[in-house]
Amino acid sequence: MNSTSTLHRSHTIDQMDNEQFDLIVIGGGITGAGIALDAASRGMKVALIEKDDFASGTSSRSTKLIHGGLRYLKQFEIALVREVGQERAIVHRLAPHLVLSEKMLLPLIEGGTFGKFSTSIGLKVYDFLAGVEGDDKRVMLSREETMEKEPLVRKEGLRGSGFYAEYRTDDARLTIELIKMAAQHQALSLNYVKAEGFIYDEQQKVVGVKCKDQNSDRSFEMHSKYIISAAGPWVDKLRKKDNSFGGKRLFLSKGVHLVVSRKRFPLNYAVYFDVPDGRMIFAIPRQRVTYIGTTDTPYDGDINHVVTNSEDEEYLLKAVNNMFPDLQLRSEDVESSWAGLRPLIYEEGKSASEMSRKDEIFESETGLISIAGGKLTGYRKMAQRVVDLVVQRFEKEENKRFKDCHTDKIPFGGGPFNGAEDVETYIKALRLRVKEMGLEEFYADYLVYNYGRQTDAVLQQMTHYKDEPEVALARAEVWFGANNELVLRPLDYFSRRSGRLYFNVDTIEPVLEAVLDDFQQYFDWSDSHRQEELELVRRDMHEARYFEYSKT
Ligand code: FAD
Repeated sequence: MNSTSTLHRSHTIDQMDNEQFDLIVIGGGITGAGIALDAASRGMKVALIEKDDFASGTSSRSTKLIHGGLRYLKQFEIALVREVGQERAIVHRLAPHLVLSEKMLLPLIEGGTFGKFSTSIGLKVYDFLAGVEGDDKRVMLSREETMEKEPLVRKEGLRGSGFYAEYRTDDARLTIELIKMAAQHQALSLNYVKAEGFIYDEQQKVVGVKCKDQNSDRSFEMHSKYIISAAGPWVDKLRKKDNSFGGKRLFLSKGVHLVVSRKRFPLNYAVYFDVPDGRMIFAIPRQRVTYIGTTDTPYDGDINHVVTNSEDEEYLLKAVNNMFPDLQLRSEDVESSWAGLRPLIYEEGKSASEMSRKDEIFESETGLISIAGGKLTGYRKMAQRVVDLVVQRFEKEENKRFKDCHTDKIPFGGGPFNGAEDVETYIKALRLRVKEMGLEEFYADYLVYNYGRQTDAVLQQMTHYKDEPEVALARAEVWFGANNELVLRPLDYFSRRSGRLYFNVDTIEPVLEAVLDDFQQYFDWSDSHRQEELELVRRDMHEARYFEYSKT
């Protein structure tokens, strides 16, 4: 298989090098992935490059909610709340195994952010703006009902709660599945290819990108009519390369999440709660863990390596222990963590959490289009807006027409499900199957939420290995990732394709050697290369748990 993957990469680079594109997208986070699918499905010839792995920037480090953003209602961002609220239902319909309905509890505490009356009205407006119907409509719970639903919530000062509907996802899987769907519409996408500079014509209009394949060190050029930079926190760096940095700029705010075992923090429902400093954070149960986040602090460190530190941990543990006083979570309880950067649009005089989450499009004199800000939840609409702009330019400048946006009708994620019930039926059947294959039942949920119906291919491949079931499963996932999801390095698999680094970190060590052996064989690695990759996995595992080595 080595030859297939390596050949596939070099063949893709040859195509990128030789062909003329309608649109180049720089950045393989959720924004770039959404744009690639939107543009390719309208008939454009699209190429997308990502300097690292897909979703390795902010798009694997979010709170992983597809949500309307209740707090934006408080800031009167009505249009934003309406748009993202409606988008939740659309992406749930398109990929119901990846965007799951998640009931959310909002405890109302004496003197807290939300009063009982304002919450009742606020949640009603929230549901109305998002078009929420039936059982999903919010209900207001009494103090007793709240304690019954979530016995861990602080009783002192508790006045009741709001109980309402949101959605949970896996941001990195969402991104990779969109990239795969874009490929089905003939978009060419490649990870580990960096945009190093731009190519201009005599009128100083940008007509191409100078690229470097980080894997083979091969440099090449791509040519295109239009270029969109969807580089997230790196957008200003690319604007500087284009000499078009000026006017509005990005403001980077760091957000951290901590992961603890569900046994230690046994939540029944996701809870959105007050922090003593006036902010609000989430505690979200997810299979065998509960995760907590997030912080919101200005960031001016290395944007290529963002890690949790002890202050972030202290802040989040204090906040949780304040709302769930019986827990008394401690540093030792933290199994894993992740840290990411919000690429916000800077607004004078506002703190990080006050700045708007709206997206913004910048157009430079050279013709480079940059898009930043926004939310995971609104990726489809962001893509539609910026591709509409490109379509208009094509019409005006080339008299060339493309279809209207129709991504709301393109299911993705590997084999469509007919709604959440269909997903549940598939998982139920799978629970028996994984048990028969020697795996714990929870792997059924893990597999379906990651791979959807592609689980069948993974399990089929598993039967080819004679190892212990857990090892055979990991090897089958790596095989699937290398063949179908451009997995090139172990961390692509452990972090962005499977989420093991965050949600099942203890499952990595037992499979690590076998997985590295497969990588070495697939990609012809030397022993020293294998050792380097092993050390990188260990470093990231260590950092996720012990942050910058500060807790050791
Ligand atoms: P990124 O994901 O950062 O992608 C940009 C990509 O561009 C990167 O992968 C980078 O490697 C690549 N790149 C940069 N330079 C180059 C180059 N020169 N050549 C090639 N590639 C390049 N939103 C929600 O809707 N729900 C949430 O629950 C939520 N929670 C959040 C919590 C936190 C802590 C944070 C930080 C954000 C959260 N968000 C949430 C917001 C959401 O995660 C972001 O809006 C979104 O992920 C941004 O995606 P992006 O594609 O624009 O950026």
